Amino acid sequence: MSASLLSRLREQIDRDGPISVADYMAACLTDPEHGYYITEPAIGRAGDFTTAPEISQMFGELIGLWAVETWRQLDLSGPFRLVEFGPGRGTLMADALRAIALAAPALAETLRIHLVEASPRMRGQQKAQLAHWPVTWHDGLDSVDDGPAVFIANEFFDALPVQQYVKRGTAWHQRQVGRKGSSDKLGFSTDPVPATVTLPREPAFQQAADGAVAEVRPAATAIIEQICDRLRAQAGALLIIDYGPLESAPGDSLQAVREHRFHPVLCDPGDADITAHVDFGALSAGARKAGMNVLGPMTQRAFLRGLGIDIRLQRLLAGADVDQRALLISGHRRLTHPAEMGDLFKVMAISGGGAPLPPFDSS
Ligand code: SAH
Repeated sequence: MSASLLSRLREQIDRDGPISVADYMAACLTDPEHGYYITEPAIGRAGDFTTAPEISQMFGELIGLWAVETWRQLDLSGPFRLVEFGPGRGTLMADALRAIALAAPALAETLRIHLVEASPRMRGQQKAQLAHWPVTWHDGLDSVDDGPAVFIANEFFDALPVQQYVKRGTAWHQRQVGRKGSSDKLGFSTDPVPATVTLPREPAFQQAADGAVAEVRPAATAIIEQICDRLRAQAGALLIIDYGPLESAPGDSLQAVREHRFHPVLCDPGDADITAHVDFGALSAGARKAGMNVLGPMTQRAFLRGLGIDIRLQRLLAGADVDQRALLISGHRRLTHPAEMGDLFKVMAISGGGAPLPPFDSS
């Protein structure tokens, strides 16, 4: 597969010149023929990377309970709409639904589940996982039916394409992907013409040294704007869980992963997962500008602890055999320990107004 996407990109570059990093990333991930999410197994032990819901059932369960609390706290009514962006194998949603059905059976009766998913292959896996639930699939938010909703995005924003800019003197220039010299490989270059781009306001960007890299994610800005419009008009909340710093800062965070190891970003396009840190500062600024209530970001450790992951662990351990106990304990550690996902991953909620949501009010 890689040879075909690589040769197609080479042809395109030879014809039209270097492409932007965002165009490169988009081709690698969602090209309809060769894109990584379209052709590769991706998530899980047999894939290339593991995500929180695949580590432990506790993750999806607690998010399900968060969705119920949010629905009640915001005093929402009508069918309980749950919208998930990039649901992967459907594990988070399956665990969340099981918890919702137990904790709030009457509300669960009204559930309508909407999954925004680009990959037909992933849709197939989600369909198998969620066979007994009323699920519809969408290419984007436009076709999700109107009304209050709780939106969930775990490791979705990191897969949206980023643009990169390199500082030269006092100006920022777009970083591009072209040919590496006269070889068949791809290499980074810098557009000689300065870019007209709005970077975050933090002084770190103004004071960045020559050669510093800044990342901007137009696709994320667009989705946040769209969700905020909807939250303003129809009420609800969005939960974002992803990896990235608490505040905006310059830095090159583009990374590729293949078979659970880092992989050179420009090698084997379409065969490796490519992501970049999520800029929570930028997402939060966009939501505030749209008049939203922004809660967090806080660390995944604080979030899961606030939702009661320690108590949930004890409950599950009580009914577990030796092997299950070991899995539960290591899953809890991987999700919450500062040296694992606990501090790197952040959680932020956006709501159209109303009361603070748990556990953000206690942070
Ligand atoms: N949330 C899941 C999967 C994370 S991987 C988990 O935690 O396990 C990213 C997911 O987003 C995949 O399902 C991928 O197919 C989907 N995706 C990536 N880019 C997308 C896009 N532009 N639109 C919709 N879905 C996308």
